[in-house]
Amino acid sequence: MPKFRVAIVGAGLTGVFFAIALEKYAPDVEFEIYEGASRLSEIGAGIALQARPWTMMQATGLDKELLKIAGNGERPALAVLYRKSDQAEGFQFSEQIDNSFTFARAEVQKAFLGRLHASDRVHVGKRFVSYHQPADGAGPIELRFEDGTTATCDILVGSDGVRSAVRASMYSHLAQAAEAQGKQQEADELRHHAHPVFSGWSIYRTVIHKSGETAVHPAFNRPTFVFYCGRDTHIVTYPISQGRALNVAAVIKLPNLEGKFYTGPSSSVASRDEYTDRFKGWESDVTEVVKHMDNTTKWAVNVVTKLPTYVDGHAALLGDAAHGMTPHQGAGAGQGFEDGFLLAQFLGRPDVNTDTLHIALQVYDEIRRPLAQKVVALSHLSGQLHSLEDPDVLEDDGSERALTPEELRRLGDKIEQVKEWRRVTSLLDENEVSMRRLAEAIGAARTS
Ligand SMILES: Cc1cc2nc3c(=O)[nH]c(=O)nc-3n(C[C@H](O)[C@H](O)[C@H](O)COP(=O)(O)OP(=O)(O)OC[C@H]3O[C@@H](n4cnc5c(N)ncnc54)[C@H](O)[C@@H]3O)c2cc1C
Repeated sequence: MPKFRVAIVGAGLTGVFFAIALEKYAPDVEFEIYEGASRLSEIGAGIALQARPWTMMQATGLDKELLKIAGNGERPALAVLYRKSDQAEGFQFSEQIDNSFTFARAEVQKAFLGRLHASDRVHVGKRFVSYHQPADGAGPIELRFEDGTTATCDILVGSDGVRSAVRASMYSHLAQAAEAQGKQQEADELRHHAHPVFSGWSIYRTVIHKSGETAVHPAFNRPTFVFYCGRDTHIVTYPISQGRALNVAAVIKLPNLEGKFYTGPSSSVASRDEYTDRFKGWESDVTEVVKHMDNTTKWAVNVVTKLPTYVDGHAALLGDAAHGMTPHQGAGAGQGFEDGFLLAQFLGRPDVNTDTLHIALQVYDEIRRPLAQKVVALSHLSGQLHSLEDPDVLEDDGSERALTPEELRRLGDKIEQVKEWRRVTSLLDENEVSMRRLAEAIGAARTS
């Protein structure tokens, strides 16, 4: 008899990582994964994992498989070059060190799925629509799927991405509860959180497999991250697949659409005309990279609004469903892994049982939400800085102006400061504090 039955909605990177963490930290917890797509595949190009996510890969034993497919082999210390590139002669204004491993996302997804012992627990073609939860956690949660079927669980975890149907269902329940108490304004605000909003950024992503000209041209062969920056536009490159390929993301801002509801597809096949003009007149490395961008996918980056909770009774949000953010810190998946790492360890504790589950989920929310929302804000700021926008350097009338080389160097220092949390914080130390916090919360509930 399992301690809990968990339903995980969404088999993206964070949902599958959570399942792997459950297998390690909560072996008496049973799970089923419900994936809406008819088969498991990962679109997208590259992904970078810094020290904090890497700690979790080591703790769960995934590091060995991942090292075999890292873009930089076994060396995490990659240089990151920042250049002002929207001119014929580029200008490097900062060089930093980033302890990141870089990967092709599809290869990471394959490694995760290969590691999942209970792979028969992944059910594809199961598009979640809504859930029903009895009041006060009295009885199982019922999940409803688009194909008319249902399933039950003790704990529902929504890892179904930025357009999460679990979040939509959760915020509809929370709004109804507020309405029932006559709190109409609160209900309206809660309904607003059901859907993501457009970040203002579109990203054109591809992978260039090196051969012929690209095997020898320096722009394709630097063992570094390179940020080629210009106003409202930048392009990022880094090596993946043990250096055999280059990940490319051309990042373009459409400021007028920021904060609006976006009804188009999250990703679509892009034509060259959509992005090549933005790089006309840029330094030659950029025009060379853009020339070789084929099979490009456009990502309209939607973000989750600042949620007041990740938890409703025994239902919880995890990954992009909870905090889908801009990619400027390369931290979205890492934050989702942190959610799953913590939640799995909470569920595996002997003092977390049917009576104390609600406390564990509340503490999960209290710890993870402020941390993830801070990273969302830092990522937003990084996007501004990568666009060569320095909020501290404005004309007297408040308008922006081109930065001098010295101001650009200072901007480079700011970019480094905004990423500092990734270097100076320790996930394992924080984990210990989190475990103590849960033990105290359970202890306090027992004595009250
Ligand atoms: C350009 C770009 C670069 C990035 N680079 C980095 C990086 O370097 N490092 C980093 O850490 N992060 C990065 N990120 C962020 C990272 O990609 C995301 O945070 C991460 O992939 C989110 O994973 P997820 O599993 O939460 O969501 P998703 O990957 O969106 O997975 C959600 C899953 O749920 C399924 N699903 C959706 N709806 C339903 C439903 N109704 N029922 C059942 N299943 C459903 C989907 O099919 C999918 O399989 C980047 C993002 C972008 C756009």
